[in-house]
Amino acid sequence: QPVDSMPMFRSFRFKLILFFVLLITSLQVTTFIAVYRATLTSVLTQIENQLVSTSHTFRRQLENRAENLAREAGILAADYGFRTAVATNDKPTILSALVSLNSRINGDRAMVISLANEIVTDTFNENSGGAKFPFSHLIEIADAEDRAVSIVVLNSNIYEFTVVPVLAPLPIAWIGIGQTMDDALASDLKEQSPFDLDISFGLLSDQSVLALKGSTFEPDLQKKLKEIDLKNMSMDSPREVRCGDDTYVSLIKPLGTTDRNTKIIALLQYSLDHAMEPYRALMLWFLGISLVSLLLALIVGIWIASGVTRPVRHLSHAARRIRTGEYDTPVPVSRMDEIGQLAEGFNHMMDGIKEREEKIYYQARHDALTDLPNRLSFALYLEEIIDQRKDSEHQFCVILIGVDRLAQINNTLGHEVGDMAVKSISERLSKVIRKSDTLARLASDVFILLVPSLGLDRSGEVLEALLDCFKDPVTVGNVSMDVSAHLGVSCYPIHGQEGKLLMQRADAAMYAASRSASASRYTVYDESKDPHTLNRLSLMGEMRTGMDRNEFELHYQPKISLKTRQITHVEALIRWNHPQNGFMPPDAFIPLAEQTGHIHLVTDFSLRTAMQQCSRWQKMVYPINVAVNLSARDLLSSKIIGKIASMLKEFKMDPDWLILEITEGAVMQDPEKALEMLETLNAMGIKLSIDDFGTGYSSMAYLKRLPIQEIKIDKSFVLELSTNHEDAVIVRSTVEMGHNLGLTVIAEGVEDDKAFDMLSDFGCDLAQGYFFSRPLPKAEFENWLFTSPWGLTERANAAERHG
Ligand code: C2E
Ligand code: CA
Ligand code: CA
Repeated sequence: QPVDSMPMFRSFRFKLILFFVLLITSLQVTTFIAVYRATLTSVLTQIENQLVSTSHTFRRQLENRAENLAREAGILAADYGFRTAVATNDKPTILSALVSLNSRINGDRAMVISLANEIVTDTFNENSGGAKFPFSHLIEIADAEDRAVSIVVLNSNIYEFTVVPVLAPLPIAWIGIGQTMDDALASDLKEQSPFDLDISFGLLSDQSVLALKGSTFEPDLQKKLKEIDLKNMSMDSPREVRCGDDTYVSLIKPLGTTDRNTKIIALLQYSLDHAMEPYRALMLWFLGISLVSLLLALIVGIWIASGVTRPVRHLSHAARRIRTGEYDTPVPVSRMDEIGQLAEGFNHMMDGIKEREEKIYYQARHDALTDLPNRLSFALYLEEIIDQRKDSEHQFCVILIGVDRLAQINNTLGHEVGDMAVKSISERLSKVIRKSDTLARLASDVFILLVPSLGLDRSGEVLEALLDCFKDPVTVGNVSMDVSAHLGVSCYPIHGQEGKLLMQRADAAMYAASRSASASRYTVYDESKDPHTLNRLSLMGEMRTGMDRNEFELHYQPKISLKTRQITHVEALIRWNHPQNGFMPPDAFIPLAEQTGHIHLVTDFSLRTAMQQCSRWQKMVYPINVAVNLSARDLLSSKIIGKIASMLKEFKMDPDWLILEITEGAVMQDPEKALEMLETLNAMGIKLSIDDFGTGYSSMAYLKRLPIQEIKIDKSFVLELSTNHEDAVIVRSTVEMGHNLGLTVIAEGVEDDKAFDMLSDFGCDLAQGYFFSRPLPKAEFENWLFTSPWGLTERANAAERHG
């Protein structure tokens, strides 16, 4: 994944920083929790202890108050007037005395109880006279101990209640005085307590329902207090209880019992929030320090993370550079650790890749066998030179060098020998060129040379020098091979101002050279002979219509048997009667048709016309075999087999009478395919002849493999046969060799009787040439048949003579 598009949170740096932050945070959180819990526990135990000790004080406070009540009640009981009022049952006086007692001691309820345990007067309810006093046990205690103190519930109020006797001197009645345990009392007690706690009084039923009677809490908090669950709280042991927004450490203090089911209790509570108050500032400090250290951790984390990730980023940048093909900036190696080693490894890798890429680049632009530049780099160089020469008239030449016989060397001696031959040729060429020249290998058997300062006028010397390289045979191991070459030249800017065009034109010139008669040869590009120029191409367009308009015609040239001196064969040769150009020899359009793919038109026409003619002659009992020329291209496609087969059928022609003339070059273009085709044709009963024999490079060994019946010695060896001794030797040995291979041998280009005689002496089988006849139109040829001594008349005459 590219570094740029990596999400931030996936980067190593981010993770490292996150790690720091989490580490510090978790460390602080645990510390905080630990400190907080320790504080809380200590505060709680403190409060609990405080509560327990306060609860004891609380008890004493209550007792003191009761004592106070008892004392004051005792003073009243001893009052003479009061005693008299009690004795005389003077209720109004008693009541007023009780009321004034109440107000003096801040009591809430005072009463006089008769010895019969009945309430005489009650400040709480003035009309309650005669009601039963519910706490007879208090009377008993007061009787025995002069006073009784208790906490009781009366009219659903809780009272701290004291009973004292009215003595005269024996008890004549009892005074009961009570102080309501309500909000006021609770506040009072709270004020007196050194410990800032909340006090509540209430009745706790068996079901743990609290009936609150007095409390230091605000009214709405009191409501919440009733809701708290006291079920599991044991008496006298503190516990935390949630109430409102606060937690209270609470202690239930039992004060008394009303009946079996209800307890009078005091609830002593201390607010935890309140207790924690002094620690809160501490916690805030702690939090502040935590935040600061977190920030520090973040900064340090970023610093360390970038320190760690910077070299890694360098590496990833380097990787990106490698991807874009830039190997020259090494990764800085400033560390001794693993990352440093990695950076070093990166640099080695870059060097390696660079080296390998240069090698691949070199290989892509050079020929592996000769180490010369290849087509690609030559084309680039050519463009470069043209760029420099732009708009100048300064000439330079492009020379194509086509090596002959290479395909044959490969076929007969193997590719290794062929490769060695190419190598030694390239070495020879490299020696004769100048430093400023550029030699490249364009194809397996084609070299190309650019001579930057060569004008057309001086090109001859260079070309001769190049041809000299092919004078001596090439020796590979102990095999010595004659090699030749044909050269094509094009010149900037006369023949073209683009590299591609110059190469194409040098190629056209080389092709022309390959078709020239001399052994080693060169041709300078000539527009008029270039099949690629425009008017030539239009000629090809005219070829098809010309076929339809009967502009084509076959001429027939006789082949004479040297034994019987009579015609036995004809060669069919095509002619084009062009409406504008007039009569056109085949050399003017056949090579062009071969290159442009129109040759099948010619082949079809010649085969069809010649075969039809042959079958007609057979019907007329003229014993004339017909030879038709096939071109190289015809041998590359199997189509021709079917065509010939259907024509044989159509014209009811005996295949034995048909001969196909094929050049060696045609066979060598794709020897495997050609061999297959020739075998098929041969199997059909058609005879095959190697045309232009001697100009190609067929070795005898190779000829043996071909299913042919005839070789046709090229006219270049025959035309000067009578004067050129060398030619005579060649022709003689060729005839012998042909016969050794069991082949018929024919010589073409026989122009005089001397040649005719020599060929007869050599034992040649057939002869063809102007000496007998030029190629003739059908009518003229038929006329010749019966007028020429080489024609059929002689035979007819002879038959007559013998007959
Ligand atoms: P080729 O097959 O070598 O044909 C023999 C050529 O030599 C003919 O030239 C013929 O006129 C010429 N010739 C014959 N006797 C003599 C002689 O005594 N002296 C001299 N100087 N020349 C002689 P032509 O008719 O101009 O044909 C040229 C070439 O055109 C042929 O060479 C052949 O390769 C090609 N060609 C002709 N007709 C056809 C055809 O129908 N199909 C194909 N594929 N090629 C054809
Ligand atoms: Ca021929
Ligand atoms: Ca020929």
